[in-house]
Amino acid sequence: MQIITKIAELDYVLSKYRNQNKIIGFVPTMGALHLGHISLINASNKDCNITICSIFVNPTQFNDKKDLERYPKTPEKDAKLLKDAGCSILFMPEVDEMYPETDTRIFDFGSIDKILDGKFRPGHFNGVAQIVSKLFFAVKPNKAYFGSKDFQQVLVVKNLVKQLNLPIEIIACPILREQDGLAMSSRNTLLSKDEREAAKIIPEIMLTIAAHKSNNLSIKQIADLVNKKVSTNSMYKLDYFVIANADSFEEITEWEQATNYVALIACFVGKVRLIDNVVF
Ligand code: AMP
Repeated sequence: MQIITKIAELDYVLSKYRNQNKIIGFVPTMGALHLGHISLINASNKDCNITICSIFVNPTQFNDKKDLERYPKTPEKDAKLLKDAGCSILFMPEVDEMYPETDTRIFDFGSIDKILDGKFRPGHFNGVAQIVSKLFFAVKPNKAYFGSKDFQQVLVVKNLVKQLNLPIEIIACPILREQDGLAMSSRNTLLSKDEREAAKIIPEIMLTIAAHKSNNLSIKQIADLVNKKVSTNSMYKLDYFVIANADSFEEITEWEQATNYVALIACFVGKVRLIDNVVF
C-alpha cells in the first residue's frame, strides 16, 4: 500500500491507473478506523481494480472546535488495517494541502441540509461538501463508498455530484454494528466504560422501531417512548429522534403509504454525540 500526502503525487500515481482504464474506488474517512470503515474498503475492492482511502479530519465540518480537538487519531493502526484489507493507496494530506486558501464556497442542498444534523450542526454539511468535492477533484474516482450510518451525508453527497456534474457513482453501504447493536463509530472510543454501557440504549431504541410500527403504535407514541427512555439518565441528551419518508426525506408525523421509512436519532451520551438510523 502506498501512502501519499500530496495531491500532485496522488494525481501522478492515479493517472497511470486511469490510462490503463482501471476502475478506481474511493473511501473517504476521518481515520480512527474500525470494521465499519473496512466494510467500505471491502465493497470497493469487490467492484474496483484500485481502492484508495483518504484519512483527513476535516476542520470545516466541525461546528464545535472541542469536538475537532478531541477527535481520535490512530494513524499507524489505520495504515495497518488498510494494508491488511487490501487497500492500494492511503491518502493522508495535511490541512494546508487541502485548504491552501480558505474555502469560501457555500453549497445549498435545498431541504436536505436544513434539518436534523444540518440544523443541530450549523455549517456541518457545507464543510462536508467542501472537503468531499476537493477530494473528488483530487482522486477522480469512478465509484465512491459511503456508510448509511451517515444517512443525511449520503443524500448530501449524491446531490453534490449532481450539482457539480461529477461522473462518480455514489454507493451507500450498510451500517456495521457492535455485538450489542451499537453502530460502529470512531467516536465510540471516546466513551468511558459507563458511557459505553449507557450507549446501548441507542440500538435498543432503534432496533425496536419497526416492531412498534407492526404493533400499531403511532409515531407520536413511539417518540414519547423514546423521550421517556432517554429521560431516565442525565447522561443522555437527545438532539433529535424523527421518522421520515426514506425516499423523500421528509419528516412524517403519521404513518403514510411510504414504502420505506427511516428513523433517525442523534443523542449525546456524556460529551459524545452519537447518531444512528434504521430503514424499515
Ligand atoms: P468517518 O470516518 O466517520 O467520517 O466515516 C467515514 C465513512 O465510513 C463514512 O462514509 C461513514 O458513513 C462510514 N462509516 C462510519 N461508521 C460506519 C459503520 N458503522 N458502518 C458502515 N459505515 C460506516
